[in-house]
Amino acid sequence: MSTMLNNVRGHLVVVMAPMGSGKGTVIEHALELHPSMYRTISCTSRAMRPKEVDGDHYHFISPEQFEARIKSGDFLEWATFAGNKYGTPKSEVLPRLDNCGVVIVEIELQGVEQLLELIPRENMTIVYIEAGGWEVLRARAAARAPMSDTELEARYQRFLIEQQSKPMADVIINNDADIETAHAEFAQVIEEAYKKCKV
Ligand code: 5GP
Repeated sequence: MSTMLNNVRGHLVVVMAPMGSGKGTVIEHALELHPSMYRTISCTSRAMRPKEVDGDHYHFISPEQFEARIKSGDFLEWATFAGNKYGTPKSEVLPRLDNCGVVIVEIELQGVEQLLELIPRENMTIVYIEAGGWEVLRARAAARAPMSDTELEARYQRFLIEQQSKPMADVIINNDADIETAHAEFAQVIEEAYKKCKV
């Protein structure tokens, strides 16, 4: 049983998005405007992808290390997604919320459900970033790199799961055509988050 935190002074911005939605650039733009905002680094047991950096995109740890950290109670939330484990360390979030900070986590649906049990609604904003339907994402992914039918099917299944989190969002941002509007809308969410902090 988890217990709802009280006296949260900062604000948590939870970002959910299907793969290929361009959420990274939306978040980076907001970080340029608000350098004091913090984007958490999760732990994962999945293999590192090309161009990823350990300790930057994720802390890449073994499944055994992940289990040990679950047992030690290190994670605020954690989930198994597509066969791998992902978790947000408490140390990434709690001290910053205590310090009136705005913190961004990028997580999937099971993690959001856990956070809803822990963080009062007035201290958390859930954002879903979308970029068109499956056809748009498929065409974009195919333009970037050739993909086998198996890979394409795996991506489609992942899209179906990720899309299920949309109804949980407080704010839905469409990052399909007009990127500047998407940037402005997310920046507005961050402005509001700062206003809600109890300095
Ligand atoms: P990817 O493997 O593509 O980086 O991420 C797969 C999914 O895991 C994405 O939906 C991503 O948002 C989610 N994710 C990343 N870190 C965490 C985390 O710490 N906790 C949870 N619950 N999901 C995460």
